[in-house]
Amino acid sequence: MATGKINVQTENIFPIIKKFLYSDTEIFLRELVSNAVDASQKLKTLSSLGEFKGEVGELQVEVILDKEAKTITVRDNGIGMTGEEVDKYINQIAFSGAEEFVQKYKDTEGAAAMIGHFGLGFYSSFMVSSQVEIKTLSFKEGSKAVKWTSDGTPEYTLEEIEKETRGTDIVMHIADDSTEFLEEARISAILNKYCKFLPVDIKFGTKTTQIDSPSGEKDEDGKLKKESVEVPNIINNTAPMWAKAPTELKAEDYDNFYQELYPMSEKPLFNIHLNVDYPFNLTGILYFPKLKKDIQIQKNKIQLYSNQVFITDSVENIVPEFMQLLHGVIDSPDIPLNVSRSYLQSDSNVKKISSYITKKVADKLNSMFKENRKDFESKWEDISVFIEYGMLSDDKFEEKAKKFALLRNTANEFFTLEEYGEKVKETQKDKDDKVVYLYTNNAEEHHALIENATSKGYDVLLLDSPLAPHLISKLEQSLEKVSFARIDADTLEKLIDKGEEVPSKLSKEDEEALKPIIESVMPKEKFMVDFQSLSETDSPMQITEAEFMRRMKEQQALGGGMGFMGTMPEMYNLVVNSNHPLISKILETKTEKKKKQLIEQATDLALLAKGMLTGKKLTEFLKRSVDIIK
Ligand code: ADP
Repeated sequence: MATGKINVQTENIFPIIKKFLYSDTEIFLRELVSNAVDASQKLKTLSSLGEFKGEVGELQVEVILDKEAKTITVRDNGIGMTGEEVDKYINQIAFSGAEEFVQKYKDTEGAAAMIGHFGLGFYSSFMVSSQVEIKTLSFKEGSKAVKWTSDGTPEYTLEEIEKETRGTDIVMHIADDSTEFLEEARISAILNKYCKFLPVDIKFGTKTTQIDSPSGEKDEDGKLKKESVEVPNIINNTAPMWAKAPTELKAEDYDNFYQELYPMSEKPLFNIHLNVDYPFNLTGILYFPKLKKDIQIQKNKIQLYSNQVFITDSVENIVPEFMQLLHGVIDSPDIPLNVSRSYLQSDSNVKKISSYITKKVADKLNSMFKENRKDFESKWEDISVFIEYGMLSDDKFEEKAKKFALLRNTANEFFTLEEYGEKVKETQKDKDDKVVYLYTNNAEEHHALIENATSKGYDVLLLDSPLAPHLISKLEQSLEKVSFARIDADTLEKLIDKGEEVPSKLSKEDEEALKPIIESVMPKEKFMVDFQSLSETDSPMQITEAEFMRRMKEQQALGGGMGFMGTMPEMYNLVVNSNHPLISKILETKTEKKKKQLIEQATDLALLAKGMLTGKKLTEFLKRSVDIIK
């Protein structure tokens, strides 16, 4: 037996690593199983190159939990290591890698994601073990099996042992503060998280089932000896969908895989299979979920893999924010993991990957739109939030999305931006040659206003997405001479001002006489009286809220800017139609009491139409209405 001391500067790196990787301790298993998979695949490669002439056999990795012995063993039948290799790869490389890692990343968050890519995957076993043994036999002819033991300090022992089978056993003696890893359910969950799609069979078994010794061996008391047996189960799918050629796959395969990724989830709308090998390597499948109208936090997150090893489901720095509304898998060995988060965003590969994905998604949407527009329209409800979010946050995406982003009107017809421009450019042009796009955010609430507008030959868009306020500003910036106006922002005559003057039946004096009486009913701090000479058939009174004021309020509610202005006051216009017969009637009414009653009734109707008549005012209105009709 040889004992030795590894040449590192930092004494006892182990407590440091253990401490700052604490929250992610579970990745030790990912690292060891990945190493075992690598060792298996290396053997396969060597065999295909003719450098290994023996029998490869069925390659597999076993994870064996032995509660009694308090060990977890990761066993493979891959290439194994000779004594010299253990010395080189474990004593020198793994330990110096660990030291370098500690020196460099002591203060970095998310260090756990990097550990495996720093040549110290193996070392992470010490995060949970008081002692680790490596028992290994190399595939090389004439090799002798060796056992290496260490407790994580730079001291180790290395000795020759008897081992018949090729490959490596890593035996972790679980430390007293890590006994959670002796729970079957915990190990099972970790394997399921990180190893579900590894390319070699992974078997998980517990060595707890006790049976009488089959060979009839007796213990000192003459009783039959008890023996432990393993009950291994394959836990992974070695050929996940994203690694297959799209031509081999049917639509239902994609749906099934979605269920495999996110059990019990609603069927996705459609998917995109990503597959590129130049200038970087990337495979994956992205799914479009039914997004409805909310941009809620996604529970089904995109999973990032590196050669089928699960890395993380926090992909913030790798795909653009709006893409995180999608579900699925991205697998790329070219995403650097041994760098800090801020560096990641500026990494050229990551940038390329990010724009590749964006382009792919935009192209897919575009071809869906072109190939089957009706079908695309039927999905619009569920994908619009994604497309709008993309247009708002990513210029390149916006550029492409302009071709397939749709506007929907209250008659449930869809238009591209260009088509809509064509549709309304003459009818909704005002006297200054500006085209006004009328819209509603709630067709029910604005029913009367919409009907009025359509009866006059105008079109009304339905913009009810949570992103609509932002999208409107964006479109106003990019479309020339176009402005948006919500249907309740003013009277139609003012919203699309054609410059056609309708003579007013009221004189300035009449207006002056009416105004104070109206103001005595409707407080002027909240309602500004605005006489307009409209058609006789328009409502006598109408409450509007200026587009600009409302937008400011919406932005404030969304938490965007303008905070310095304090809370925006509620301010409405009370439009009085000077040409309506009722207004003339009010003016001619002799008794003050009767006059006021009519004004109250007319303003209440305006409030009612706006959904603002509630509480005491509503009770009074109901009483008054009964009085009037009885
Ligand atoms: P990395 O895997 O990143 O190179 P590790 O510390 O995990 O770093 O492993 C160091 C080296 O030890 C590996 O590169 C490999 O050569 C060797 N090794 C680790 N585990 C095994 C194994 N199960 N079988 C054969 N070789 C192994």
